[in-house]
Amino acid sequence: MNTRQVGALAVTAISDGVLYTNHDVILGVGREESARLTGVAYGQPLPLDVNSFLIRHGGKLILSDAGSGHTMQPTLGKLPQNLRAIGVDPAAIDIVMLTHLHSDHSLGLVDEAGQAVFPNAELMIHEVEAAFWLDRALQPDDHERITRNSKAQRAVTAPYRDRIRRISDGEVLPGIAAMLRPGHTPGHTNWLLQSGGERLLIWGDIVHLAPVQLARPEARLIYDVDTDLAAATRQKVLEWAAAERLVVAGAHLEFPGFGRVERAGERFIIKAELATA
Ligand SMILES: [Zn+2]
Repeated sequence: MNTRQVGALAVTAISDGVLYTNHDVILGVGREESARLTGVAYGQPLPLDVNSFLIRHGGKLILSDAGSGHTMQPTLGKLPQNLRAIGVDPAAIDIVMLTHLHSDHSLGLVDEAGQAVFPNAELMIHEVEAAFWLDRALQPDDHERITRNSKAQRAVTAPYRDRIRRISDGEVLPGIAAMLRPGHTPGHTNWLLQSGGERLLIWGDIVHLAPVQLARPEARLIYDVDTDLAAATRQKVLEWAAAERLVVAGAHLEFPGFGRVERAGERFIIKAELATA
C-alpha cells in the first residue's frame, strides 16, 4: 500500500504520474556531468516522479500536495484516480496542505471545468507563500514566469477562497509542524510529522533531481525563485536530515518517495526506505 506508519499517523504515497523535463532546467552543472549523474543522455527527456502523500490521522484525511491536474502533460494528473484506487474519494479529503504553489503541486486542485477536485477540503498554505503568489499586487517588472504562475495559482485556489488557512511555522495539526524552507519559492514549506517517538519529514521540492542534487547540492533549477537561497536551504536540510537520520518523503523522489539521507564526504546519498504497510 506504499504506507509508512509514523506513530499514530499513517502516510501513504500516492502517485500523480511522471513529469518529463530536460537537462536544460539544471543550472550550474555541465551537460556531460548531468548526463552522467542521471544516466540520461543530453537532449533526452528526464523523467521526474510526482508524488503526493496522504496522511490518516485521528479520523482525518490530510493530503500533502494536490497533483498537476490535466493541463500539464498527459502522463500527469493521476492523483484522483490513484486515490480512488485505494478507496479514498477526493471529496472525503479534509485538508490539503501545499508545500508550495507550483503547477505540479497545485493545478490538480481543480478539474477541467475549474471546479474543486477536493470540494470539502480546507487548504493550508504558508502565509509567506500565499503573500507572494496570491495576495501580492503583480508588478510590471516581475519575471514572466512569476506573473504566469501567480495567475495560475489564483485561478486554481479561487474555488477554495473561503477555506484557505494561511499558516505560520509551528504545529498546524496535532503531530504536524510547518517549517519554512524558502528559496525554491519564497514560502516553500516542509511538514515535520512526529508521533509516538517517530518522525518523518515531508520535504516537498528540497530535491528535484536526486541523482544530480545529492551529488551536487549547489545545482539549481530554473524554476527556483531565489536560486542561491534554494541551494543554501537544500544544503541545510540535507545536513539536518542526515544528522538526525530522518526518514524523508519527497515530492520528486522515486515513487513511493521515502528515503533516508546519508553523508558521503561532501556529497549526500539517499537510500530508499520501504513502505512498512
Ligand atoms: Zn515540484
